[in-house]
Amino acid sequence: MDRYAVIGHPVEHSKSPLIHAAFARQTGQQIEYGKVQAPLDGFVATVAGLQAQGYCGANVTVPFKFEAYSLATELSERARDAGAVNTLSFKNGGIHGDNTDGVGLVRDILQNLEFSLAGKRVLLLGAGGAAEGVLGPLLQASPALLCIANRSVEKAKAMAARARPVDAELEACSFDALAGKAFDVVINATSSGLSNERLPLPSGLFAADALAYDMMYGRETPFMQYTREEGVQKIADGLGMLVEQAAEAFYVWRQIRPDTASVIAALRTS
Ligand code: NDP
Repeated sequence: MDRYAVIGHPVEHSKSPLIHAAFARQTGQQIEYGKVQAPLDGFVATVAGLQAQGYCGANVTVPFKFEAYSLATELSERARDAGAVNTLSFKNGGIHGDNTDGVGLVRDILQNLEFSLAGKRVLLLGAGGAAEGVLGPLLQASPALLCIANRSVEKAKAMAARARPVDAELEACSFDALAGKAFDVVINATSSGLSNERLPLPSGLFAADALAYDMMYGRETPFMQYTREEGVQKIADGLGMLVEQAAEAFYVWRQIRPDTASVIAALRTS
C-alpha cells in the first residue's frame, strides 16, 4: 500500500485524509493517507522520518509551505513561481516540490462556480503563503486587472514585483487605497477569518454580479458577512479550492484525475 500524509501544525482539523480516501475509493487506487503533526521546529526531521518509512509523498499545510519549498531538491515551475510548496513527492532519494493551491482555486472558480476570470477586474486580499500560491495561476486566467491589497503593503508590492510579466495590469496597494475602486472578483486570501477579525474594507468594492470568494471554509467569516451587507449574490467559501488542490496533488502522485464534484457535495452535507 503506497502511503501519503498531510504535515501541518496544527493538523487535526485537516480534511485531506477524508478527501484522499474518497479519491482512492473512486479510482480504485490502493493508498493510505494520514495526518502528521510536525513540531514547529521539526518539519525537516518529520519529512526525513516519512521518507525513511517508505512514504511516497506528502501534502504540506500551515505553517510549513515555505520550509517545504526550501527543502525540495527539485521544484515544479508553479512551485518556483509561488515560492511555496504544498505537495511533496519522494522519488529516488530526492524530494520533488509542487504547488497545487493556485490551480485548485482557479479550477473552483472557472469550473465549479462557472465564473470567468478573463477580462475581469480581480482583487486579491492578502500577501501570505496562500496569496503567493494563487497569484501565478490567477494571472494566467487573463484578468484585465489584478490588484493585491495587504495590511503590510510592502509585502503586496514585493509580491507584484516578483510576478512574471503578463498582459494583465498588476497593482499593489493598502486596504485604505481601495476606496472608490470596484472589482468583479474579490478573493480573501488573508487569515483574518481564523481570528474572526473584520478587514477594513470600504463600501462599494463590488461591481454588479461580482463574485466574493473566501479561501476559508467551514464557517461564516466576517468577510462573508461584509459581502452580504454589500449585497453580493455570488459568495463562495474555500471548500471547492481545498478539494481541487487535493485532486491536483492526487494527479501529481497517481496520474489519475478524480471526480471532485461528488466529493465537494459529500463534504458539504457531512
Ligand atoms: P499566512 O499566515 O501566510 O498569511 C496571512 C495573511 O493574512 C497575510 O497577508 C496577513 O497580512 C493577513 N492577515 C492576517 N490577519 C489579518 C488581519 N486581522 N487583518 C488584515 N490582514 C490580516 O496565511 P496563509 O496565506 O497560509 O493562509 C491564508 C488563509 O487562506 C487561511 O485562512 C487559510 O486557511 C486559507 N487557505 C485555504 C486553502 C484552501 O484550500 N481553501 C489553501 C490555503 C490557505 P500581513 O502580511 O499584514 O501580516
